[in-house]
Amino acid sequence: MKCKVCNSEFVGRKDKIFCSVQCKNEYHLTLSEVTKDMAYPLDRILHRNRSILLEIMGPKARKKHVRRSLLVKKKFQFKYLTHFNVNSKGKMYHHIYDFAWMEFSDDEVLIVKTNKQWIPETEKA
Ligand SMILES: [Zn+2]
Repeated sequence: MKCKVCNSEFVGRKDKIFCSVQCKNEYHLTLSEVTKDMAYPLDRILHRNRSILLEIMGPKARKKHVRRSLLVKKKFQFKYLTHFNVNSKGKMYHHIYDFAWMEFSDDEVLIVKTNKQWIPETEKA
């Protein structure tokens, strides 16, 4: 077998793809670094969006109606979100981590603090 990282020949279990722990670590470190670099610009936008929502909401508010223009003024980037859901009335909640916003009317946006502990779908029981 040939190591996926250093190309050296090695023997071992059929499903083994690395010759050593070092090569395995190097492989995963590289994956992680490449992903970090690629994701960085988007992560910045998402973090900034969350900061804007936090600034508007303060530490205690659960719900707040604001003018869309306030978000525009703060350079909130509407098209970037972490996930979304549509409620029973067909309204789309645009989530940004633990906050969400939805179009309440043409010029009004409802912001909510979801306070959900973020658990990836794959880790749910
Ligand atoms: Zn190797």
